[in-house]
Amino acid sequence: MGSANGRKSIFITGAASGMGRETARLFHGKGWFVGGYDQNAEGLKSLEAELGAANCIVRRLDVTDKADYEKALAEFGAATGGKMDVLFNNAGIGAGGFFDEQPFEDVLKVVQVNFVGVLNGIHSAIGLLKATPGSLCFTTSSSSATYGMPGIAVYSATKHAVKGLTEALSIEFRRHGVRVADVLPGLIDTPILPPEAVKNAPKDGMFRAIPPVEVAKVVWEAYGSEKLHWYVPPELAELDKAAGNMPEMVREQIATTGPIAKAIEAAKAAAGKAG
Ligand code: NAD
Repeated sequence: MGSANGRKSIFITGAASGMGRETARLFHGKGWFVGGYDQNAEGLKSLEAELGAANCIVRRLDVTDKADYEKALAEFGAATGGKMDVLFNNAGIGAGGFFDEQPFEDVLKVVQVNFVGVLNGIHSAIGLLKATPGSLCFTTSSSSATYGMPGIAVYSATKHAVKGLTEALSIEFRRHGVRVADVLPGLIDTPILPPEAVKNAPKDGMFRAIPPVEVAKVVWEAYGSEKLHWYVPPELAELDKAAGNMPEMVREQIATTGPIAKAIEAAKAAAGKAG
């Protein structure tokens, strides 16, 4: 287990894979000390081998377990002299399907990991952030926090919750000199997505497939900035504006195009035949 020895430090959840892992690599490359946390012990082992044991702490952590989260933070604080320059709340899971067709336990699991996990992290880490001048509390939201997305309704709702929490805490934590911001990624090529999602992604436009290192670059930029919401790609900011200004129009667009429209039409046709 390494120690920071005066280096700046970042605590990353979901560090074994995807955007969390790319962020670990990027900050390591900039000379930072990295705390990597995930449920995936194998992925963490290979991350540690890649970064070098002296440059990181990796540890298995389920972000839904508040007591264990506090232990992980105490270990991290011991290695950094009580400092944390960036908290990156990034672990997340996705679950697709119609809300009424999903087992309720699956629905609750998404809320536990994607939202309660973020609350656990921020509530437990605030002491370290407060003790670190210029610190940043950064969380992974989603483009599905621009408008409630059918097919991933609860996932999308948790990401709206993250966005709202970010806005509120970015004001509350001014008392402590801690900045708070989030990233709203579009379609990022990571294992969280089913392979066909990337294969069938449009070649251009805001929902083209983007490599996870682009999110890592945004975390780095956010550390030097006062900006609140980061969009990857930046054009997603326009979708957010449209959803805010014209929610009925955006609703109609989503309901009448793509797979959701087909499912609605098929259900209506089936109901017509039955009647
Ligand atoms: P990923 O699957 O590569 O990484 C997510 C990591 O989180 C995994 O290593 C997983 O083991 C870990 N994790 C899951 N549950 C956990 C738990 N309870 N405790 C600790 N770790 C846990 O996917 P990713 O795309 O890099 O996802 C990172 C974040 O980005 C997630 O919050 C996801 O919702 C969000 N996101 C992804 C996309 C996309 O298109 N890939 C778009 C928008 C937002």
